[in-house]
Amino acid sequence: MAESVPDVNEVRVTGTLVWYYHVCPREAWLMSRQLTPDEEDDNIRIGRLIHEQSYSRLAHEVTTPAGKMDRLVRRDGQWVVYEVKKSSRHEASARMQLLFYLLQLHEDGVEAVGELHFPEERRVVRVTLGPSELAEIQSAVVQIRTLIAQPLPPPPQRIPVCRQCAYAEFCWA
Ligand code: SF4
Repeated sequence: MAESVPDVNEVRVTGTLVWYYHVCPREAWLMSRQLTPDEEDDNIRIGRLIHEQSYSRLAHEVTTPAGKMDRLVRRDGQWVVYEVKKSSRHEASARMQLLFYLLQLHEDGVEAVGELHFPEERRVVRVTLGPSELAEIQSAVVQIRTLIAQPLPPPPQRIPVCRQCAYAEFCWA
């Protein structure tokens, strides 16, 4: 695991990584090393299915250096980034992921707002990048870079998510 330690300034942060970091930093570290969990894991499959079924009509994934945004549209003269999640269980993490996309666009000179979509709950949450959110996401990016540049992952911490995490066997076997 320790052979390819990236320089802290070269760590490529993506929106997905921001999401994982706020769910479990260890999971983010493992993902950053391409130690990908089982693609057929039920949790991953369900998320993919809901995404495909609920939002196929909106399906316009936008790939940027920051990762794949679920959708970026121009609405009423404003850019809007959509992020779709299967549930609001990790809403705080999803919010940070969306703030990261807004930050990336902001740094590219594009001011946008975000919308978190929870199709199973028929709920939409608006996210904006004000001064406090800007400071919050910039600080998170520094923390993520520092974590990913470590040669080893942080030790596992048992949290409720572990029960459904695709890395559970790796962490707790
Ligand atoms: S099993 Fe738990 S500690 Fe291990 S990566 Fe998953 S959430 Fe993190």
